[in-house]
Amino acid sequence: MEKEINILDHIKSFLVYISGGFFSHENVEESLKIYLIYTFSIVSFLFVFFLGLFSLSSLSYELNTILLGAAFFLFINVTYLKLTDNHHYAGYIMLYLAFALILYLIYSGGYDNTGPLWIFILPPLALFIHGLKKGLVDIAIFMIIILFMFFYPHNYLLDASYTMAFKIQILLSFLLLIFLSALYEYSKERSLRKMKKIQSDLEFFLKRDPLTGLYNRRGYHDSIDDISGKHGVMLMCDIDHFKKINDTYGHDAGDFVIQEVAQCIRENVRREDVAIRWGGEEFLIFLSNTNIKNGYLVAEKLRESIERLTLFYKEGITIRVTLSMGISLISNEVPLEEAIRNADNAMYVSKASGRNQISKY
Ligand code: GH3
Ligand code: MG
Ligand code: MG
Repeated sequence: MEKEINILDHIKSFLVYISGGFFSHENVEESLKIYLIYTFSIVSFLFVFFLGLFSLSSLSYELNTILLGAAFFLFINVTYLKLTDNHHYAGYIMLYLAFALILYLIYSGGYDNTGPLWIFILPPLALFIHGLKKGLVDIAIFMIIILFMFFYPHNYLLDASYTMAFKIQILLSFLLLIFLSALYEYSKERSLRKMKKIQSDLEFFLKRDPLTGLYNRRGYHDSIDDISGKHGVMLMCDIDHFKKINDTYGHDAGDFVIQEVAQCIRENVRREDVAIRWGGEEFLIFLSNTNIKNGYLVAEKLRESIERLTLFYKEGITIRVTLSMGISLISNEVPLEEAIRNADNAMYVSKASGRNQISKY
């Protein structure tokens, strides 16, 4: 069997390697989110902790307690994330902790009235954790609260006092930062969506035969895990005297016939069955959870449908074809590869016995 090269697997192994096992999560995107929130939590924990610790003498007792308290919560959060991988809660906790801390800094003024400067970390943080829509709602709520605090009559909601010019400047630059961060998040989400679409298109086309849209051999190898261990019937089909069609009407006519036969096969099998374009004018069909008797009935129905088909290729050119088939059982005793070989051998028996018929292995 040819070795499948899966790019996502390589990315995953690389991430597992550089993150020391943190990326062992099945979903790479989830892992990336966990990793980033984890790193961000650690950095903010260290930052807030050391800020609280080293400014013991210069800050008020109250501010110090709050910073060290926040550091403690961030530490719990990091531990929680490390243990559970639950980045949803950890993200919420980190964001709302930052939310509360910054509101307090605005209220109190922080060190020498510089507290409000910390609002600039909010837009990127909220958008990163909650994405564009929810992140913007978070920021809007935050903005409304600040507006109230800043402009409530008689400075009633503030302990610190800021000049009007300062309040307006900080709000304007905050708005500009929201706009830029949202723009960045929007383009990031859009390119992520595009990348996902390209990836799924690529996966689809890698596994499909472009002429018929049926699975190709690569697609068959991918679905092999689903097939093995199942019971069912293998059908090998080959168009009779196909070379003559190519020789008489040209290669394009041959392609047209292959497409029409593939369509007929699609119409005759169920969703849970797997139809593969096995080779040039050969098709392999796996009928899942089917016994040999029912498999034979499906094969016979397909054989008759093909026999009845009148294919209108071009003005004045109609083509009729027949299928020779081999049918075999796949079970715990007969593994997949052997079942395919058996169906193939049975198909050659049909050819040798005059074509347009089904032989059981
Ligand atoms: P038999 O009844 O014994 O199966 O005879 P046959 O002519 O169908 O068998 P053979 O294997 O000799 O010929 C198959 C031909 O199919 C040979 C090849 O040129 C042609 N073929 C393979 N792939 C394609 C394809 O994608 N398009 C077209 N048009 N022809 C193809
Ligand atoms: Mg053939
Ligand atoms: Mg043939």
